Amino acid sequence: MNEDILRFQHQPVAWQILSKDLPAGRVSHALLITGAEGTGKKTLARMIAMGLVCQGERKPCGQCPACVQAASGSHPDITWIRPGEPIDPREEKGKKTIPVGDIREAARIVSVQAYEGENRAVIIDQADKMTLNAQNALLKVLEEPPHGVHFLLLTEAPGAILPTIHSRCRIVPIRPWPDHLIAERLIKTGLAEDKALLTAQRAGGSFGKAMQLAANEDMWQFRDKVRQHFFGLQRRSEILTASGEYKSDSTAASEALDHLEDMLRQLMLCRQERHDSSVAESFPEDWQKIAQMESYAGFVRLQDDIANARLYLASNVTPQAVMERLMFHFLEEKDQWLKS
Ligand SMILES: [Zn+2]
Repeated sequence: MNEDILRFQHQPVAWQILSKDLPAGRVSHALLITGAEGTGKKTLARMIAMGLVCQGERKPCGQCPACVQAASGSHPDITWIRPGEPIDPREEKGKKTIPVGDIREAARIVSVQAYEGENRAVIIDQADKMTLNAQNALLKVLEEPPHGVHFLLLTEAPGAILPTIHSRCRIVPIRPWPDHLIAERLIKTGLAEDKALLTAQRAGGSFGKAMQLAANEDMWQFRDKVRQHFFGLQRRSEILTASGEYKSDSTAASEALDHLEDMLRQLMLCRQERHDSSVAESFPEDWQKIAQMESYAGFVRLQDDIANARLYLASNVTPQAVMERLMFHFLEEKDQWLKS
């Protein structure tokens, strides 16, 4: 089984369909796949549709001609409907909704014999974008579904779909993915471990969002700058210049605090050997040494200092003053640590 499918072991309902219902030929004729952006609704729909048309033994085998065709998006028994790309030639392109014509056209397509096997799938992406007429037309089809036809409705906003449609569908919720899975996937794409962990934490359980964040060069550059401003400090005279970069920019200051908090956490995890050494290597040498030391207290104090800095920012102390004070603390803690 391929990786895309195995990943769904962490999603109980989806896994039930992929591992049990598909091989047994018992997939419901209507599925409502719900989940936030980037959680893999389309991937899941593609896998299920592939399994429905697959001619191999273990469905979806991913190798038979039907699977290959399904993967390339050109299987004649799989119809995708999306807003703006009407399958009914009479409908206008580029609209933000799914018009009733598309549902009628889909109903017409599936009313004739399947081209190849006995199953057909209609996948409606952003199903909440169906107009009310379209939803009513779909409801009629769902009331008497043609044999072997499966409707897969995908949505981030299930509340915008008629309750009468909900009640005719099996609901397949895709929950936010665990951070460690997202991080593993990012590391496989070549992202460094420290970046992958951070990205996963910020992605809110969405693979799609994680990919976007990972590609956000500005954010990584800013993070490196913050690392330099706080962990790279050698002497007090450098603080004025470094804090000057935050002058009156409270958004940048608050972003910087997020990064700092996260970087401290990373260093602490290195101490507990929960990360490999590459994470610590992104820090200046002094801090790499500190990460190996016994005492915890300094980390706790710095975390408190960051929390206080947030309060100062919120109470309108100038960002530069807040950052300056915090930089002093970082430098002091570092010196004390290294002396001890
Ligand atoms: Zn196959």
